[in-house]
Amino acid sequence: MARGKRKTEAEDNDSKQQPAKQAKNSKESDAEGEEQNGFVASGELVKPATRVRQLKGGDAGKGPVIYWMSRDQRVHDNWALLHACEVAQTTGAPVLIAFNLVEKFLVAGARQFGFMLRGLKELVPQMDKLNITFFLLRGDPIQTIPKLVKDTDAGLLVTDFAAMRIGREWRDGVAEKLDIPFHEVDAHNVVPVWVASDKRETGARTIRSKINKKLPEYLVDIPPVPQSAKYEGKVKPDKVDWDKIIKGAVEAGKEVPEIDWCKPGVDAALEALKAFLTKERLGHFTADRNDPNKPGALSGLSPYLHYGQLGAQRMALDAVKLRSKFREGVDGFLEESIVRRELSDNYVFYEKNYDKFEAAAEWAKKSLDLHRKDKREYLYSREQFEKAETHDELWNAGQMEMVVLGKMHGFMRMYWAKKIVEWTESPEQAIEFSIYLNDKYEIDGRDSNGYVGCMWSCVGIHDQGWAERAVFGKIRYMNYAGCKRKFNIKTYVERIDKLARKHGKSVKGA
Ligand SMILES: Cc1cc2nc3c(=O)[nH]c(=O)nc-3n(C[C@H](O)[C@H](O)[C@H](O)COP(=O)(O)OP(=O)(O)OC[C@H]3O[C@@H](n4cnc5c(N)ncnc54)[C@H](O)[C@@H]3O)c2cc1C
Repeated sequence: MARGKRKTEAEDNDSKQQPAKQAKNSKESDAEGEEQNGFVASGELVKPATRVRQLKGGDAGKGPVIYWMSRDQRVHDNWALLHACEVAQTTGAPVLIAFNLVEKFLVAGARQFGFMLRGLKELVPQMDKLNITFFLLRGDPIQTIPKLVKDTDAGLLVTDFAAMRIGREWRDGVAEKLDIPFHEVDAHNVVPVWVASDKRETGARTIRSKINKKLPEYLVDIPPVPQSAKYEGKVKPDKVDWDKIIKGAVEAGKEVPEIDWCKPGVDAALEALKAFLTKERLGHFTADRNDPNKPGALSGLSPYLHYGQLGAQRMALDAVKLRSKFREGVDGFLEESIVRRELSDNYVFYEKNYDKFEAAAEWAKKSLDLHRKDKREYLYSREQFEKAETHDELWNAGQMEMVVLGKMHGFMRMYWAKKIVEWTESPEQAIEFSIYLNDKYEIDGRDSNGYVGCMWSCVGIHDQGWAERAVFGKIRYMNYAGCKRKFNIKTYVERIDKLARKHGKSVKGA
């Protein structure tokens, strides 16, 4: 597409999943990013400029710069906010932050809404200190965001990057209604998704070197957020009664209650990061991460990463500093938290059917199709799975860990989803059930990693073909005996059962 004639995403549906043509190499992409955005060229805060892409072109006006905060719910270590500040500085305009609260988000309940809202509440004093005015909007963002832009006579709208369908639809809908420029900044990935690759990657082996090559340029320190000019506009934000909003959301979603072991918010996120970066934990990450009886070997940071209360880049920068001490642990952790995590966003962004059977590779579809009529030894309904009423106590324990704690151990997630494949009528049903349960109960659910995790388990996304067997065809299989070789199943089941009983449940079914 010719420079300067870039269409908006909303205008050009066909090109919306291939936005990265400009990012062939960093030098070239920097120059183009600067040219597209004009004002980004000074680049003192946000480097390289390719972290930013235009959803709607044009020159920024003199009015406030609004950062529509969505996926990256933090003030510090946030490239999207830094970009908003950088542009605002060139015109002396104030920076506003808007967050749009929707009443329903997929199958999120009190657990997820409570965590998010409590985290957001904590951000407001941080914004106040920087002179940044905060607007909490409610309703459909396709209506509320353009209205705020109009009411405040804003000169530029900035948002953070979303990979999932719903986030893309919101951004497209907003872009269509705007007559000011609209920029999207990948504040979630170390290497912006459109820079890492311009297509859906086959797997970790094909994206790893692409990401690693870019790290020296992208894994750089993040500057502090500058003070904003004071906002003196006529339209003021409504006073937010956080306690009332949180109470309402928790009541509405009470079927899946909040959790108490993981404190929400940016401060708690940094504390959790610090607690993980030790010899006892990070030092053992690679050796012990697949043992569900050693949950401390994992970071436990996925809730903070999911809501953007912790920047992946901050996490990586702090971990890298310890590489000389715990090389194996740090390398293993960066493989998961950069390569695998960013591969998930690559998949969800470039594959529009990311949660459907159709997304599977041809070999996988062909193989699963051949085994559709295979006899299943057990068949369970969604309700039976949900209540942990299978014959397998290990599976039930994984399910209960998720239902009660809101976070199943990473190794158990694989076993859990593989067994859903074995005990459902079709791969489509396995995808549907696993995503439904994952999104409903996991505190970190409704995430690119979750879609990839379920799709890897059910239809072999990012995997290769394995020895052919009933039901699974060539999709990788996991079984009880394999788990037995890896960890003490009895210890795990007993620990989870004890926990479940405190909540009136058990691994023998609800
Ligand atoms: C069926 C299934 C469902 C899953 N659902 C989710 C989900 O809803 N949300 C979610 O964030 N992750 C999901 N995962 C991926 C992984 O299990 C979790 O990210 C991890 O267990 C989170 O715990 P942690 O933060 O302690 O991870 P750690 O092991 O400490 O890893 C650090 C970070 O690296 C990333 N990471 C780790 N493992 C993976 C992986 N396999 N793929 C991609 N990124 C990874 C995560 O961001 C994680 O927080 C799922 C995996 C499977 C097999």
